[in-house]
Amino acid sequence: MWGIIATWRMAFDGVTVASQLLKEGIAVGDAIELAIRLIEDNPLYKSVGYGGLPNIQGTVQLDAAYMDGDTYQIGSVAGISDVKNPISVAKQLSKERFNSFLVGEGARDYAVLHGFDIQNMLTDRAKSEWEKRLKEVQKNKLNPYDGHDTVGMVGLDVSGSMATGTSSSGLFMKQAGRIGDSPLSGSGFYVDSDIGGATATGLGEDLMKGCLSYEIVRLMKDGYSPQAACNQAVYDFADRLTKRNETAGAFSLIAMNRHGEWGVATNVEFAFVVATEKQKPTVYVATPTKDKQTTIEKVTEEWLEQQRKHATID
Ligand code: ASP
Repeated sequence: MWGIIATWRMAFDGVTVASQLLKEGIAVGDAIELAIRLIEDNPLYKSVGYGGLPNIQGTVQLDAAYMDGDTYQIGSVAGISDVKNPISVAKQLSKERFNSFLVGEGARDYAVLHGFDIQNMLTDRAKSEWEKRLKEVQKNKLNPYDGHDTVGMVGLDVSGSMATGTSSSGLFMKQAGRIGDSPLSGSGFYVDSDIGGATATGLGEDLMKGCLSYEIVRLMKDGYSPQAACNQAVYDFADRLTKRNETAGAFSLIAMNRHGEWGVATNVEFAFVVATEKQKPTVYVATPTKDKQTTIEKVTEEWLEQQRKHATID
C-alpha cells in the first residue's frame, strides 16, 4: 500500500507527481520533498515559498519542517530568507544529530554552506500586495493577518515507511521573527511509521496550544481511525479553546495511518488532496458539522475552475 494526503488545492500537482513515483516505489521522504518543492517553486501560491507573502517589514520569512517516521528524525527551519526550497534544507537538517532546528540567519548560512539555491523570494506581485495591505491596515485598522495557508503532507510508501513535511510563509504581515506551528514538531506535524502521521494548517498561535498533530497520532496509536482521531482531537480542542478564550482561530488537520487510511477535521471550510493505491489524486472539501463530525465532498469542476482563476488573478 502507498498513499499521500496534503493540505489545500495548491498541493494537487505535487501530489499527482508524488503519487506516480510512490506507485513506482520511490521512498516516501523523496516523494514528499519533491511534491513540496513544486509548490514552493510556483509563484502563484502566495503562502508557500517563492511568491509567498512577506512580513510587516516586507521580508519573506519562511518556515518548513521534515520528519522521518521510521527514525523520528526531524529537521526544521524557521524565519529563513532567500532560500529557494526550505523543505529541502529541513530534510537535510533531519540527518543532523545536533542543531537540527535552525532559525533566521543561521538557517540561511547552513543552506549556503550546503549548496542549496539562494534567491530573492519576494515576487513583484507579493510586494505590491504588501504595499496595498500596509496602506489599508493603516487606514482602516483591518485584521492584517488574512492570507495564509501551509502546505503539509503525510505519506506512506510501498515499503511501509512514512514521512511528513510542511512549508509556509506563515501569516501575511506577521511581525519580523514570528514563527508559526509549521516547523514545530507535534503542532504542525508528527509521524510514526508504526502508527501514522498528521499535519496542520491554520492559525499557528492556536495550533501550538493544542499540539494537535501529535494528539491525532496518539489517538491513532490508541486504535482510533484517522477520521475518528481527527474529529476527536480537533473538535474537542476547538471547544476547550473557545470556552477559555471566547474565540478559536481557523485550523484544519489531516492524517493518514500506516494502512493508507486517511482523515480530516477542520473548523472552517477546507480543501485537501488525497491519492492512494486505491484512489487517483482527488481534491476534497471538508466542513465541520454541528455534531462534531466532518463532511467530506469531492470538489466539482466549477470549484476547480474558480480556484484556478483566483490563483492567477488575485
Ligand atoms: N500555520 C501557519 C502559521 O501559523 C499558517 C497557515 O497554515 O495558514 O504560520
